[in-house]
Amino acid sequence: MPSVKKCPDCAERVLDEASVCRHCGHTFAAEDSVASGYRPPAWAVVLVVAILTLGAGGIIYQRTRPVKHPSPEKCAQLYRDGAANPANQPMDITEQQFVDTCVQGKDFPN
Ligand SMILES: [Zn+2]
Repeated sequence: MPSVKKCPDCAERVLDEASVCRHCGHTFAAEDSVASGYRPPAWAVVLVVAILTLGAGGIIYQRTRPVKHPSPEKCAQLYRDGAANPANQPMDITEQQFVDTCVQGKDFPN
């Protein structure tokens, strides 16, 4: 059994060698930094995180504002329950379908 680690962002298990979480895209940078002995100063980390958070928040806000779905979570629930998908019956939606329909607001693929 391959060794795995737990993603701090989505709590899914991913291979130890993975540098990016395949579930949520979280980047595992810690091991590389520790191994090379380089640690960025705390203020730099805070600054980068703050910029990324503000930037991502702005982009997400711009993208989701015109979408009629109440929220990605609610949207996904509607599809899983069958209330909003073409088949009108409970179904699992893939991560790609979730992103396309609930995050980007495209039509649900048949
Ligand atoms: Zn993750």
